[in-house]
Amino acid sequence: MKRPIKNFLTCLTLLLSASVFSCAKAPIKALIVTGQNNHNWEVNSVALQKYLNESGIFTAELAISPQKGEDMSSFRPDFSAYKLIVLDYNGDAWCDDANRAFLEYVKNGGGVVVYHAADNAFRNWKEYNEIIGLGGWENRDETDGPYVYFKDGKAVRDTSSGLGGSHGKQHEYAIVVRDKKHPITKDLPESWMHSKDELYDRLRGPAKNLTVLATAYSAEETGGTGRDEPVLMTITWGKGRIFHTVLGHDTRWTVEGGSFAVTFLRGAEWAATGKVTRKIPDGFPRK
Ligand code: ZN
Repeated sequence: MKRPIKNFLTCLTLLLSASVFSCAKAPIKALIVTGQNNHNWEVNSVALQKYLNESGIFTAELAISPQKGEDMSSFRPDFSAYKLIVLDYNGDAWCDDANRAFLEYVKNGGGVVVYHAADNAFRNWKEYNEIIGLGGWENRDETDGPYVYFKDGKAVRDTSSGLGGSHGKQHEYAIVVRDKKHPITKDLPESWMHSKDELYDRLRGPAKNLTVLATAYSAEETGGTGRDEPVLMTITWGKGRIFHTVLGHDTRWTVEGGSFAVTFLRGAEWAATGKVTRKIPDGFPRK
């Protein structure tokens, strides 16, 4: 091989390997959509951002909406610039352009995390409800889709009439993995004790392309349903991957390496990439 060509090929190889190396190392861009919520979004969104940024996998920014009742037309996050959108939003409708851009993002393979009360939002937005899979409150009822819960170890789709969404009093509860093969739950214990939290129940929705990864028993003594309610789920919509966690009512009760943070980050990584590379920390709770 002539020297100039050989030198050129060597340079090209070095350049390519350098770019592959830098791509592998570049953090994944995530956007947390927040600004209106019936929860303390100022605290929760910053905690989510911290967990993402300190994971070594993501770099996370906040998109803070105008306040309730204000003009929403200027709120148009550039969803397509990110690989992960974390929904920490439960408030006024976005403008049509923002709605369209979000659906386009998910359809084209964008990753989404539906966090806690984000599954309360936008009852009348059909596609949003398909993306969250299950929702609650805002007078959701049997016209929104079945209740989904576990009975005798199997997922039940219950079309009986009634309102969707409620919860008993906050308490510690056991989480049970129902899909041990999914990348998000594969290395987790079969069950563990979750720190004090709300436990959503009676969620209902389209539940299309929905997999329940883990449930928690909603005891009647704490004001619950007496059912095994879904707490971690995945949904696919178009080419998009969605991870839905009902956990994390108040992130002041959550800790790094704990049940909420670990499941949140595993779900976030899977939604963004289809894989989970994170190890379970040694201190993760076991039953
Ligand atoms: Zn809550």
